[in-house]
Amino acid sequence: MKTKLKLEKIYKRYGNKTVLKALDLEVEDGEFMVVLGPSGMGKSTLLRVIVGIEDLTAGRVIVDGKDVSNLPPNRRDIAMVFQNYALYPNMTAYKNIAFPLRMNKMPPAKIKKKVSEIAETLKIADILDRDISLLSGGQKQRVALARCLVRNPKMFLLDEPLSNLDARVRFSARTELKKLQKELGYTFVYVTHDQQEASTLADRVAVLRNGQIDQLDDYENLINAPRSKWLGDFVGDFPMNFIDGNMIGIEGKEIGFRDSWISEQGNEISATVEYCQVNEDIYRAYCKIDSGSEAEDDNKIVASDDSKAKVILRVAKRYNPGDRIQFSLERYNVYSGGILESTSSSQKNSKVTS
Ligand code: ADP
Repeated sequence: MKTKLKLEKIYKRYGNKTVLKALDLEVEDGEFMVVLGPSGMGKSTLLRVIVGIEDLTAGRVIVDGKDVSNLPPNRRDIAMVFQNYALYPNMTAYKNIAFPLRMNKMPPAKIKKKVSEIAETLKIADILDRDISLLSGGQKQRVALARCLVRNPKMFLLDEPLSNLDARVRFSARTELKKLQKELGYTFVYVTHDQQEASTLADRVAVLRNGQIDQLDDYENLINAPRSKWLGDFVGDFPMNFIDGNMIGIEGKEIGFRDSWISEQGNEISATVEYCQVNEDIYRAYCKIDSGSEAEDDNKIVASDDSKAKVILRVAKRYNPGDRIQFSLERYNVYSGGILESTSSSQKNSKVTS
């Protein structure tokens, strides 16, 4: 697959604050790349740097093999769709879409042809005469996309483009966006803090943390084998549960928690949580062992052998003191010093990249 976008050792500083730090990322031609991360991690900054509306402190932005780092935004051929779409509210959809072409002094007849082709593709031909202020959120999104598409850009950057839509429209807009991207073969770099968007839209997800890509992987692998405890806490619909214990040995199929220990019964072990606490934003559940209760299929166990020998569980829900936990030894990760050391052999798709 051809590389569409290559970011090399990107730095962005505001005063003495470093937002992006030696960030590397490669996006393939036709890929839907989602950049996922909590607010304030620099996701929007990253897009602004790629499109060129923000200067780089250091590093290179390479599009189709060409270094565009020093080119102004209008010569980079990259379209950016903003969260609020940045449409002109008092113009019709047609005028909004035609705007960049008029700026480029394209002859009116050619503009008309281009706009109607795009409108046909995006199924908005029937709303071209309407004022933007009268359109629904989903329609506005398509008009904003159309305005980018008419310029035939090399790639698209999208900054949380669905976050202003209400939940139901968001769902259909998401499906439509993905379909469109695949049908037209566009390269998308899509920024969001929303896990669901990452899981449904992305070919690959790049998690942005401390100015760098912490893990680049498909969403499934990110969930199954987050390469750090921080990622284990961040990715997924709910954070991992972290449970302290003494690991007697996974090889021997025995795991102990604190002073107690358990052995595998069939393929299952069970435990009772003694107490839970939130520590440095990491949710820990301390447990005492029980055995013999019924298994839940979805549960995953994650174990660590760092100095304190922590056993970390990812289970289907958060547990309360006194709850009984049951989990399967089929799925676990071993973390050492907070970093993924290995994944259980029976885990599916356990490819790990760093
Ligand atoms: P995200 O999109 O992940 O929420 P942003 O890229 O908006 O994060 O911001 C990352 C950090 O950079 C934030 O701490 C923000 O305050 C800072 N930042 C963004 N733009 C500027 C700016 N123009 N001047 C100074 N600091 C900025």
